[in-house]
Amino acid sequence: MVVRARQERPLLLLLTLVASLALLAGMAWPGVLAGWLLLILVVVARKPAVLPVEEPEVVEEEEPVFDPLPQVAATLGALDIPAFVLGQDASVLFQNKAAEKAFGALPTGSHLSAKLRSPGILDMVRETIATDEPNQIEHSERLPSERVYMLRVAPIDLGQRAPETPDDEVQKFYLLSFKDISELRRIDRMRSDFVANASHELRTPLASLRGFIETLQGPARSDPAAQERFLAIMFDQATRMSRLVDDLMSLSRLELKSHIAPDQTVDLRPLIGHVRDALLPLAEDLGVEIRTHLPEGKVEVLGDRDELVQVFENLIENACKYGQEGKFVDVYLKKGPSKPVEVSVVDQGPGIPAEHVPRLTERFYRVSVADSRSKKGTGLGLAIVKHILTRHRARLIVKSEVGKGSEFTVRF
Ligand code: ADP
Repeated sequence: MVVRARQERPLLLLLTLVASLALLAGMAWPGVLAGWLLLILVVVARKPAVLPVEEPEVVEEEEPVFDPLPQVAATLGALDIPAFVLGQDASVLFQNKAAEKAFGALPTGSHLSAKLRSPGILDMVRETIATDEPNQIEHSERLPSERVYMLRVAPIDLGQRAPETPDDEVQKFYLLSFKDISELRRIDRMRSDFVANASHELRTPLASLRGFIETLQGPARSDPAAQERFLAIMFDQATRMSRLVDDLMSLSRLELKSHIAPDQTVDLRPLIGHVRDALLPLAEDLGVEIRTHLPEGKVEVLGDRDELVQVFENLIENACKYGQEGKFVDVYLKKGPSKPVEVSVVDQGPGIPAEHVPRLTERFYRVSVADSRSKKGTGLGLAIVKHILTRHRARLIVKSEVGKGSEFTVRF
């Protein structure tokens, strides 16, 4: 870079001043001398003086190193599903807390295979690294508890990188995430078990009906005594089928409104009296006496009257049927000033072996299928009870001792 020198300017001014003063003072020769000098300087000053000017030092600003990992890690740290960030060699660059909890901590930089040895997973990761295409696979772990995961691996598209970095030098990252689908699988299994059980329960009486119809059309065509016997059995089977369909409908209706809490106020005293009266004919047939133990005054809860009738009908009917040999069924309605309202149905029957107790409210679960069928059971009664109580924010507590009897308590 060049600049025109301006250093002569003060000198020019000075000489002009001297020449003018000299001339004014009548001093001719200093005036002429100063005039000459002035002229020379004006000529010289007109020529641009080229001075070397030092180039200003250009400070090269250093590009900040582009490292996206901390940000990616911070984001994944907030996720509640296990996630790993992998490098291009399938080494683990980061694992979030959920991954540490599920699979144990892994030193940074270790190969993924140090924790996950399944060839399926490693092949999937290799393929994604090679093709840059996402992949997913279902995987189950047995330890520490049985879990089913949907694993997905995908390249992390950072959308930006250090400028002018050649493609083959860009560091690539991959996200390996685990979605826990154990609960979904369990619900799927329950649903298909339910359909299988319901079909099985319906198929048995249907097969028996068809058999009797064929007999009535053929061998028993002209045997009125056999016809009467068979028709009575057919009636029982048809009734069993409609009971089953009623229970299935009840369950599906309850499922539909399971999230709506009931808002009526129901007095349990008259309700229990009503259920006892309705079950008196059955109890008499079985030779059982139902004794109710009710406190004075109202015992009110928030509930749906019809559904609560269904709960106590099921419990008292079961106590009469399965505890028949105990001869008595006691129903206690309890209410303390600071205690929850409780209704207990107690029988002195054979009791239930401990291993069956936790499963009693599963659909179609029965301690003895033959015993339940002979007592016109469908295996759905306690499942319905549990559904209704869940909607009422109430609990069913079952205590039973083999040889002594059972106690089914509803706690509101
Ligand atoms: P079910 O229609 O078979 O009665 P539930 O769901 O009402 O179906 O009951 C499930 C099973 O629980 C019954 O089959 C029976 O084995 C057992 N159970 C229920 N109540 C009693 C009881 N009071 N005493 C003994 N066993 C009972």
